Amino acid sequence: MKISTVSIFPSMFEAVTGYGMTRLAIDRGILALKIFNPRDFTLDRNRTVDGRPYGGGPGMVMKPEPLSRCLDEARKTTPGPVVFMTPQGTLFNQSMAEGLARLDGFTLLTGRYEGIDERIVESRVDLEVSIGDVVLTGGEIPSMMIIDAISRLLPGVLGNSESAEQDSFSQGMLDYPHYTRPEIFEGRAVPGVLLSGNHEKIRMWRMEQSRIRTRKRRPDLFARWAGTEDTGDCPHH
Ligand code: SAM
Repeated sequence: MKISTVSIFPSMFEAVTGYGMTRLAIDRGILALKIFNPRDFTLDRNRTVDGRPYGGGPGMVMKPEPLSRCLDEARKTTPGPVVFMTPQGTLFNQSMAEGLARLDGFTLLTGRYEGIDERIVESRVDLEVSIGDVVLTGGEIPSMMIIDAISRLLPGVLGNSESAEQDSFSQGMLDYPHYTRPEIFEGRAVPGVLLSGNHEKIRMWRMEQSRIRTRKRRPDLFARWAGTEDTGDCPHH
């Protein structure tokens, strides 16, 4: 998987290149992450990447020329779509992560200031993605969310191939609760069924916990899941 990112703050990406599973994916050669800085594609002495907005108003806008040159360079070595991070995009979720993880690669375009010149969106962006109904100061953290979410779906990254499949959202449901030693912590005991050694009972208990949690916390997910599955003994409200 080849991912390129266009960002004026390349060192922020050390958060994914330096730690945990994302770092492991890079070290194992499963994920190649390249960062392109639009500032390196400016032609003026001040290396200007932003300009005042036409029509007035607060803030600055990312200039189109450095962005276009930078994106075109990134695309020379990166297959797949250009994904622009913007609060105006389609909401990111697990199924989008799964779709992106199946590609050979893609390029993440991150904005700063008030955003980027619209003509770049028109001429070079294939997909606009938002990480939630919230406005951040830049697209780096949203991009890192995408890199993080897809890297754990790439074959060979997670030790146990099942562990991504049981996570929240992967079956359209939230995950069940997890426990480890000690058996009693601050007077709270681990649910007895988990100590029973009865794998079928444990599986049923976990499934039920998933259902209870999803129905209570995410009725929207639950309704969708109930519409596609045989709900069996599941209560209907
Ligand atoms: N004026 C823009 C708007 O309201 O659509 C917001 C600009 S925001 C301050 C600066 C940059 O942060 C955006 O260009 C985008 O790349 C990134 N960003 C902010 N919130 C985001 C979100 N929810 N999802 C994805 N990217 C976001």
